[in-house]
Amino acid sequence: MSEFVLAIDQGTTSTRAIIFDHGGGIVAVGQLEHRQIYPQAGWVEHDPIEIWDNTRQVVAVALAKAELSPKQIAGIGITNQRETTVIWDRATGQPIHNAIVWQDTRTAGMVDHLAAAAGGVERFRQVTGLPLHPYFSATKIAWILDRVPGARRRAEAGELAFGTTDSWLIWNLTGGVDGGRHLTDVTNASRTNLMNLRTLDWDAAVLAAYDLPRVMLPEIRASVGEFGEVSDDAVASGVPLLAVLGDQQAAAFGQCAFGPGEAKNTYGTGCFLLVGTGRQVVFSKSGLISTVAYQLAGGEPHYALEGSVAVTGSLVQWLRDNLGLIGSAPEVETLARTVEDNGGAFIVPAFSGLFAPYWRSDARGVIVGLTRYINKGHLARAALEATAYQTRDVLDAAAADGARLNELRVDGGMVGNQLLMQFQADILGVDVVRPVVAETTALGAAYGAGLASGYWASLDELRANWREGARWAPSMLGVERERLYGRWLKAVDRSLDWS
Ligand code: ADP
Repeated sequence: MSEFVLAIDQGTTSTRAIIFDHGGGIVAVGQLEHRQIYPQAGWVEHDPIEIWDNTRQVVAVALAKAELSPKQIAGIGITNQRETTVIWDRATGQPIHNAIVWQDTRTAGMVDHLAAAAGGVERFRQVTGLPLHPYFSATKIAWILDRVPGARRRAEAGELAFGTTDSWLIWNLTGGVDGGRHLTDVTNASRTNLMNLRTLDWDAAVLAAYDLPRVMLPEIRASVGEFGEVSDDAVASGVPLLAVLGDQQAAAFGQCAFGPGEAKNTYGTGCFLLVGTGRQVVFSKSGLISTVAYQLAGGEPHYALEGSVAVTGSLVQWLRDNLGLIGSAPEVETLARTVEDNGGAFIVPAFSGLFAPYWRSDARGVIVGLTRYINKGHLARAALEATAYQTRDVLDAAAADGARLNELRVDGGMVGNQLLMQFQADILGVDVVRPVVAETTALGAAYGAGLASGYWASLDELRANWREGARWAPSMLGVERERLYGRWLKAVDRSLDWS
């Protein structure tokens, strides 16, 4: 009997391998960051070969730290940054271009062109659940096929493969040029803007509208089930791949938010709220998108409404790397605590335009309310508050769609920030709750793999693993909450119609 499960978390800034025990506790972690490549303003790329190399290394590190052999691993679950687009040559295994990352805005012109037809940006919403937007994979694929010489012809001839980073890793882990499997799961496929949410298959009419050949796309599978076996000797050879979930869906799974009305908000590079809608595809009237939450092999798909916010933790990185105001991300809290409040300053970090609930590619970042009084402490505070206000935006949208939450389950890198979590509770007016294991993204992938292998018996058994780690209750007066939030909405208005 295998004693552990392993999750590979291929994130935006780093790749992690985490080994979990039966209680959902962390046994060992391997982690490596990869380069963020910014060729021009608004463009963001990753090197897929670097990501694959890092994956092999972090798995080896985690196994070595835990002093385990692959035989002691019941299965591997993969979770990954979604939408990020890789296209590679099936014969050589070489990518034909760097990966175009989810935050990349280079295809805004392409989106405008497609939106000129009847239906505008809502053109495919009833099929894919998504508006037309550079965020999703479809236009990123088209951009590479248009710009790399010969790529379109080679894609049509079946020589090229497309995948989000889950597919890229599965193909490499299961043999690469030597019989690698070309697969993805329903949650990742639902972020391409090419999958029909109800049939869970690539949609012929949508593919035709984007002019993309179906032959380059992976086979779509249930999130929890068979994805082949690791063949590479360097990493966990012989261990089965048993689950694949996009990072936000994995976090919801790791938070045991399996049912309708159950929700989580993850605070990382960006912020992502998911509220389950069960077997129903619900279309938002308030700027949220419809997505697949998970599907167990042989089971029905479960859906969710999602509020995706592009820039939260990455604003903290920007204070660190571009302004040099802090030396590390956690220092933002120390700096913010040097002042009582934001002093009237608000930062709207519309670096990639604004995502949910606004979907405005024409927005750009602004700092408003500057006076001679404002110092770097106020800016640190305004940066943290921007995360809380953007979360309020998407929670209000969910409430308008009928999903009113009476508390918010949170996770991700930013939830170690006490000041932010207290302010979040204050500005929402509901309790904010963090589980003991805040690595919910990796945990969700591990849960998927463990369910498929029988390591865990049922969703109920997983629920029993969920433990409250910390809770923040609102302490701000309602009038103050609404006054501040009103100022935020005014600041958002100032960011629009700039690009
Ligand atoms: P991802 O999975 O998107 O790469 P993580 O969940 O690892 O992100 O979180 C990392 C992000 O959280 C970074 O953008 C970093 O700036 C931010 N972050 C980490 N610790 C803190 C902190 N104590 N306060 C504020 N932001 C933080």
